[in-house]
Parts: sequence; C-alpha cells; structure tokens
Amino acid sequence: MTLARTYLDHNATAPLRHEAREAMLAALDVTGNASSVHGEGRRARSIVETAREQVAALVNAKPSEVVFTSGATEANVWALSGAFASVAVCGIEHDSVLAPLRACGARIADIPADADGVARIAAIADARPNVALITLQWANNETGVVQPVLEAAKLACESGCAFHTDAVQAAGRVDVDFAALGATTMSLSAHKLGGPKGIGALVIRDGVTLRPLVPGGGQERRRRGGTENIAGIAGFGAAAVAAKSDMSEWQRIAELRDTMEIDILHTAPSAVIIGRERMRLPNTTCVAVPGQFAETLVIKFDLAGIAVSAGAACSSGKVGASHVLTAMGLAPEFTSGAVRISLGPGTSKDDIARFLDVWKKIAGTKTETRMVA
Ligand code: PMP
Repeated sequence: MTLARTYLDHNATAPLRHEAREAMLAALDVTGNASSVHGEGRRARSIVETAREQVAALVNAKPSEVVFTSGATEANVWALSGAFASVAVCGIEHDSVLAPLRACGARIADIPADADGVARIAAIADARPNVALITLQWANNETGVVQPVLEAAKLACESGCAFHTDAVQAAGRVDVDFAALGATTMSLSAHKLGGPKGIGALVIRDGVTLRPLVPGGGQERRRRGGTENIAGIAGFGAAAVAAKSDMSEWQRIAELRDTMEIDILHTAPSAVIIGRERMRLPNTTCVAVPGQFAETLVIKFDLAGIAVSAGAACSSGKVGASHVLTAMGLAPEFTSGAVRISLGPGTSKDDIARFLDVWKKIAGTKTETRMVA
C-alpha cells in the first residue's frame, strides 16, 4: 500500500493548477512559431500576448513591461548582471540574486537583517548615496518574512538609483503592485503560484532599457532571444488568473498556519518560530528546533509521508547551515535546525492534523535530541 502524502512545501514549488495544465495542453497542440506571420504563428502569438496580459494583471504592471524568461533565476541574473558598479543587498536574498552580484564584481554594500529576518531599512538609507542599485526581495523564501520594499523603493527613487525586487514568493500570495511600488525591475516565477516550472518573467518598467542577457532572435521585443515556450507561457498566464481569483483563500491559510504554530510550540516549547512577530507570507512557518538537525527532521517527515524542507530546499541536496538564517545572525543550533513548512491553496485541516501528528512523534520534547556541533 502506498503511503498517502501530505505536501507542505509550496515555497519550493506549488502543485500545478488544473487551469494551468489545461492551458498548457491546449498550447502544446499549437503548431505555429509566435514570430511567424501566418495563421499558425498568429495563434501562437495570441497565446503569448494573452498570457502577458494575465501575468501583468496579477502584479498591476503593463503588459509591455512583462518579459518572459526561463524562470526567476534568469530574471534575477538578468536584472543584476553587469550594469551596476555598486549595489546594496542583504544576505537573506536568494542565491540567484547574490551570485550574479558577486560574479560581476559589483561593490557590495552589505545590508544587515535583524534576528526576525527583516532587512534593516536604516542601513539601506545609509548605503543609498553610494550605490547605483538597491535590491530587496518582497518576501523571504525560507522565513516568509515580508520585507520593507515600499520604503526601500522610495529611498531608491529619491536618490535616482535603480530598485530591483525578487517577488517570487509574494506574487499571488500577497498584494503585489508593481506600478505602486515604482521599482525598476521585478522578477516572477510561474511554479510558485501553480504554473509550470521553467518559466518566469522579468517585469521591466516602461522606458528602462536592459542589455539582453540572452541575445539572439528578436523575440520579446528584442529583449530576450529564443523561440517562446508557448506551453509554459500559457500555463503561467492561466496560473496567474487562477491565483488572482483565489487571493481570498490566503486568509483561511493564514488561520490554519497560525493554529498549527500554536500546536507546534505546545508540543516542543523549546522550538522557535522565526519571524513570528513580523509581517509574513500567510503560508510559511520556519521553525527551528535547537538540538536537532533540519535534514534529519525532513527525512523523518518524508518517511512519514509529509513533504517539508530544510531551509532553501529549492537547491536540494544542500546540507548545512541556512545562509538566510546565518545572515540574520542566528546561532548554529538554529541555522542548522530550521524546518520550513509552507502551505498552499489546497492545504486542508486534515493535512495540518497529519503534520502535527508526525511533529509530535519526531520533534516533541520527549524525542531524544542531538546537539548540533
Ligand atoms: N527567488 C526566490 C525567492 C525563490 O524562492 C526562487 C525559487 N526557489 C527563485 C528566486 C528562483 O526561481 P526559479 O525556480 O523560477 O528559477
């Protein structure tokens, strides 16, 4: 008999929404190349443009500002590669933000985060006169903590420097308004909101010119070469529509998550929920259990049929301390012992009851613990 599975790892990737699946299946049968002028080509083009409008509507951007990419990694790398001599960035960012900045040799103003995982806005204000770009994620993938993006974008705007935000974890979960934010660029990924993997977008404010990261053909108005991934784009568009229409669902998820956290702490009083007092995504709990290794807990959960992750599981196989929690200045017993539980629109009370059942067995205070070296 196969063990029933409970999926609580939506920040790594969300299950494909049925609307996205249907749109993709239909698009797979479209023969045309979106650059061709004949009827088949025009059919493909219309799929791309409809999806562009759908994605733009989710984040209140103009369709002309949405450029499809292979995902948010590409979008971040594109937005951050090369063009800036000096950048303000916080160590809690995703690797796809940190790596291109390091690789291009930009002078980096390191913005500290507090112990709750919020980037210090005062440090951004101090760094601002000396940087050409401020980058700050909308919400953190490990802790779910929402960052002061409005304040950071305002600071950038006042001093005429560029502002990039990685909105991957926020889009479709909290209100993301590109126009109101006034950012220069913003990255999105379809698979975090129920679209397919391998497709995303860089939203580029109208009037801003970025040198293509992928030059070649004239696709995406000469901004990103390569024949468009029609099925992926169609799935992204459909997922964006579905995500926009079930935004009210997150209130239920937040309540489910909050009651789950009360039970988590009741069972293991020494556990710490990171960023609990701050504004967080409605779906994320990052819980550190001092004296336990996160990887061991994740394996135990997996064997019991529950999918959760240790820190940033999108780069799975990675064992060791979380760079996010380390950047927050947390002690090794927390940085190596944090488990992320991330809920989604399909998560039910029963899912959480099953999780808590297992949690009691493996992380409860009666469990034998092992100190982190
Ligand atoms: N930024 C954040 C905050 C993420 O969580 C992820 C995915 N783990 C990415 C960027 C990269 O997105 P993609 O998988 O589309 O490359």
